[in-house]
Amino acid sequence: MKTINSKENEKADLITADSAPSANFIRSIIASDIKENKNDGRVHTRFPPEPNGYLHIGHAKAISLNFGIASEYEGGLCNLRFDDTNPGKEEVEYTESIKFDVRWLGFDWGDRLFYASDYFETLYDYAVQLIKDGKAYVCSLSAEEIREYRGTLTEPGKNSPYRTRSVEENLDLFERMRAGEFSDGAHVLRAKIDMASPNLNMRDPTIYRIRHVPHHRTGSKWCIYPMYDFAHCLSDSIEGITHSICTLEFENNRPLYDWFLNELKVKCHPQQIEFARLNFSYTVMSKRKLLKLVEEGYVSGWDDPRMPTLGGLRRRGYTPEAIRSFCERIGVSKTNSTVDISLLEHFIREDLNKRSPRVMAVLRPLRVVIDNYPASRVEEIDAVNNPEDPRMGSRRIPFSHVIYIEREDFREHPPKKFFRLSPGREIRLKHAYYIKCVKVVKDEQTGEIIELHCTYDPETKGGWSADGRRVMGTSHWVSAAHSLEVEVRLYDHLFIKENPEEVEEGEDFKSNLNPDSLVTLKSCRVEPGLRGAEPGSRYQFLRMGYFCVDSVDSSDERLVFNRTISLRDSWARIEKSL
Ligand code: ATP
Ligand code: MG
Repeated sequence: MKTINSKENEKADLITADSAPSANFIRSIIASDIKENKNDGRVHTRFPPEPNGYLHIGHAKAISLNFGIASEYEGGLCNLRFDDTNPGKEEVEYTESIKFDVRWLGFDWGDRLFYASDYFETLYDYAVQLIKDGKAYVCSLSAEEIREYRGTLTEPGKNSPYRTRSVEENLDLFERMRAGEFSDGAHVLRAKIDMASPNLNMRDPTIYRIRHVPHHRTGSKWCIYPMYDFAHCLSDSIEGITHSICTLEFENNRPLYDWFLNELKVKCHPQQIEFARLNFSYTVMSKRKLLKLVEEGYVSGWDDPRMPTLGGLRRRGYTPEAIRSFCERIGVSKTNSTVDISLLEHFIREDLNKRSPRVMAVLRPLRVVIDNYPASRVEEIDAVNNPEDPRMGSRRIPFSHVIYIEREDFREHPPKKFFRLSPGREIRLKHAYYIKCVKVVKDEQTGEIIELHCTYDPETKGGWSADGRRVMGTSHWVSAAHSLEVEVRLYDHLFIKENPEEVEEGEDFKSNLNPDSLVTLKSCRVEPGLRGAEPGSRYQFLRMGYFCVDSVDSSDERLVFNRTISLRDSWARIEKSL
């Protein structure tokens, strides 16, 4: 049995087909480098997160790519490097969570864990070398003036009046910048390149700025900090990286990446290769925006199961295997595009279908009294745990006089094509018996259905009729007296719009938050066998979807389940089309 419909299949194929021509462009660059014995045939990549937030599914793509490629070659290596050049912003909490997430995804950096801040001294020396070579100068324009002097895409910039400072003066000023003599913004160190370059990145970019802010690793040792473009290429070079894989927005920074390495005549000159970042429908992925959702309380934290963070997906019940398969399937390309979130959902369904034991859980219980079943009798019914995998064995479920079925499995006045229970109609109880509805009991005041009365046919044990009589519907159920009451959380997309950034004037992305992204059901009922289920353990609730025990809020006294993903509900689709 496949859990995906043909439409989803088509979509998955379409996306693969789209990215197929370029799916291997990075691999083919590396293959030809090896053939030419470039870098002595070495392959060494890195994953360089900035520890200013939690990793998200987009990072998973970069992680799979960098660690994946390294693992494909003999002796291939991949470093984990924290790009912690921004003081103040980075936090230990983020560093630890990033390490945890990379390991959880199934990758291992071995003993190659690095921090850009470990290179501050070396980077400083490189900057001094540039000054001595007349390739960098201390500029004392204000930030505002620097912006004005930079020019625009259509107009060249103007040289800073400080561009002609002597090497001696620059060395003296730079040293004093380091010594803490000046306040933030008083001076910067800039590369001396070309203020008329059509590439704005090459118009004398800043390479050091003064910031009297302590750093979470170097404390108050430094009050000048290198800029990303300067620190990144040199960190790559210091670590002997061969292929520096990054996202497309750095394409225009590549000439600068190469400029620094060429001017400094470093031994190792990695090749920067850009690929398209992963964007998803119905979510935002920027760490800044995700942080806003956390800080302003729109979600319960970075690991809220609706978040696209790896922590959120993990808590929701996603497996690392599903995420890795997804990353492989989307491949890498040179054009930015948005991936339909249903593709990720497809991979988690496939994976969970194989690994999850089936159990019965009733999310919105409706009491059913089986009139002709003795009140004192309890029967243990055999049920296979996973029809996909006989190795998962079977279990026994109690059946008794009063059971619960799903409220939506009964209609007093069934519409056309509704094949479940209704007055006078017979259905199958999964694994158990055929039952027939003989009476509907309602609340006199509200008219709400309180309970049903049914009869069962003892000749249909196991859910099969000896006389070959057929029924149209099968319902799941639990025994009222034996089942456990649990809480279930149902999740939907965090945003109502496919592109949450599409907003009315004066609004921001938060105006597109989906008010129904979390529905909490407090009185659900599950099979008694789930008592003591471990946090994180995963199940398929028959017909209702895949669920996992919440790792934060669940306890032995009160189990809490998160719905990872629904099965496709064919009835909902039919009802919609009626
Ligand atoms: P954000 O824009 O959310 O702040 P970032 O790119 O600044 O993300 P980093 O911590 O700098 O986040 O990212 C580490 C690595 O992951 C970088 O190499 C970056 O290119 C890559 N990366 C980040 N987001 C994505 C994405 N959506 N798809 C693929 N790779 C990504
Ligand atoms: Mg970044």
